Amino acid sequence: MQIPVGVSARHIHLSQEHLTALFGAGAQLHPKKALSQPGQYASEETVDLQGPRGKIERVRVLGPVRPETQLEVSKTDLLKLGMQAPVRESGQIEGSPGLTIIGPQGQVQLEKGVIVAKRHVHFSPDEARRYGVRDGQFLTLRTSGERGLIFEHVSARVSPKYKLDFHLDTDEANAAGVQTGDEAEVIELDGLHEQEHFHGNEIVRVNSSPKIEKPTEFVR
Ligand SMILES: [Zn+2]
Repeated sequence: MQIPVGVSARHIHLSQEHLTALFGAGAQLHPKKALSQPGQYASEETVDLQGPRGKIERVRVLGPVRPETQLEVSKTDLLKLGMQAPVRESGQIEGSPGLTIIGPQGQVQLEKGVIVAKRHVHFSPDEARRYGVRDGQFLTLRTSGERGLIFEHVSARVSPKYKLDFHLDTDEANAAGVQTGDEAEVIELDGLHEQEHFHGNEIVRVNSSPKIEKPTEFVR
């Protein structure tokens, strides 16, 4: 089962309130390029980020606006900014750090919303049925090529708003030597895992490790 790869470069989703603060009263996003997920687009607008130790300029704003501002960066970006942030599913920003966002018309001191996006596959309900996958399930995918890698703990997200795509960040894609348009193969469908089983970086696996059969001579 092959799934197309979509590499997500660093980007920001803005609330209307923050869009206005950064770009001025009456500001709107101007779509520049449609993204793989229906209705989502990269806008003409960019912002700069100021972290404790470094700055990253011209970070793409994705549209449409969302209820809450969320910044998705790579671990490498965090090193440059001089900060840490958790690996999270999109939308789960409780307890994540903030930073300073700089726009052409103003700045926002973000309280929370900086995350490293957890790798995931988007499925429409039809695609999920075809692949035998449920929302929230964890998959294992393999990429091929010179730097082929196995990606564990890939969450499946199923929604009528989605379309088949395996989303990785630039660190993950570079490590695997893959780019948007390549394909990855689903090699394992794990059981349903609860988000609660994740404690920071430590992952408690539930019913997902391969059963190790003891050689007969060790069975007493
Ligand atoms: Zn995605």
